[in-house]
Amino acid sequence: MGMWASLDAMWEMPAEKRIFGAVLLFSWTVYLWESFLAQRQRRIYKTTTHVPPELGQIMDSETFEKSRLYQLDKSTFSFWSGLYSEIEGTLILLFGGIPYLWRLSGRFCGYAGFGPEYEITQSLVFLLLATLFSALTGLPWSLYNTFVIEEKHGFNQQTLGFFMKDAVKKFVVTQCILLPVSSLLLYIIKIGGDYFFIYAWLFTLVVSLVLVTIYADYIAPLFDKFTPLPEGKLKQEIEVMAKSIDFPLTKVYVVEGSKRSSHSNAYFYGFFKNKRIVLFDTLLEEYSVLNKDILEESGMEPRKDGEGDSEEIKAKVKNKKQGCKNEEVLAVLGHELGHWKLGHTVKNIIISQVLSFCLTVLSRRFEFQADAFAKKLGKAKDLYSALIKLNKDNLGFPVSDWLFSMWHYSHPPLLERLQALENSKQD
Ligand SMILES: [Zn+2]
Repeated sequence: MGMWASLDAMWEMPAEKRIFGAVLLFSWTVYLWESFLAQRQRRIYKTTTHVPPELGQIMDSETFEKSRLYQLDKSTFSFWSGLYSEIEGTLILLFGGIPYLWRLSGRFCGYAGFGPEYEITQSLVFLLLATLFSALTGLPWSLYNTFVIEEKHGFNQQTLGFFMKDAVKKFVVTQCILLPVSSLLLYIIKIGGDYFFIYAWLFTLVVSLVLVTIYADYIAPLFDKFTPLPEGKLKQEIEVMAKSIDFPLTKVYVVEGSKRSSHSNAYFYGFFKNKRIVLFDTLLEEYSVLNKDILEESGMEPRKDGEGDSEEIKAKVKNKKQGCKNEEVLAVLGHELGHWKLGHTVKNIIISQVLSFCLTVLSRRFEFQADAFAKKLGKAKDLYSALIKLNKDNLGFPVSDWLFSMWHYSHPPLLERLQALENSKQD
């Protein structure tokens, strides 16, 4: 009732207020819907206190409980941070925060001796202030997430100094890109005449293509250390696999993800004939710095060639060790290369113009297809165990509310992926 009455009232307002009201209404509708879903998922974390029987084979009860508590903490955190940002956004809109910031920027320009004819300068000051505001209000949340939640569950590897330096660096790099790009864009809009929107669209298209091209080589290395994967069995095997499916691989890098967190990952990037693969050191059992201490304690050198006494080492360091064996790393890569071979990257770019929900549904289909691709490469068994390990290392929770999972998860639930692999694991 209340909602319909306020909708009626909305139609009688002047156009600006109507747009204003519609923005608020839309934002709160999405917020409430997602909170409802989060609540459903939270109930699953709270009530599923024992490993479901169908998961008994793949997860021990200790890992299950760890993962459950981790997800519960994350869910509580996102409840409060979500509530905060929804209220913050609403207050900014209601109390005219945006026009206020615009006037403030004008005043700064006035002090600096720029007259009202310098609209572009005023816009840049406005952008700078707005991004500074959002970085500062986001900082306490990000600090809490890293140093309280991730820390508590054993993922955080950052020191406070590293974190702050990183945050400042991120802000400066963003401004270095954002400010020149937006001043050019504003200039184009100003001189573009009747067809300004076409020029503006072309400009943003070119800029985003340039950014995608230079990101991995020039921007990402400002933040993390990338080193070529040393010669050895793993590198050889990656090259053989890439060749077998005509993947134009030029380099394999290991990124020092362990400086940030012990979460693990792998990806590829690059245009056309110049593709590169990046492996997180946390993914690699034998290169992970996080395993080094354990290896040293047990009086052993980390293996460099992927051969030899892996079983022995594993037996000694079973408790804390993380990461995957070479075969499993290859299986994970087989999945990633499947995304390339099946044209998913390009399809994603095209589809991303459409609704994000459709993207989630499609992306899950792609996950199954990439798994099937890895299976065709004869990696079913290793991918199966890699998925279990990665889920364990990242404390993924294997049970989810169907509605929550359908809305949010770009990857299908672990159990479904395992079942799909299982059918022909023996191949
Ligand atoms: Zn995938």
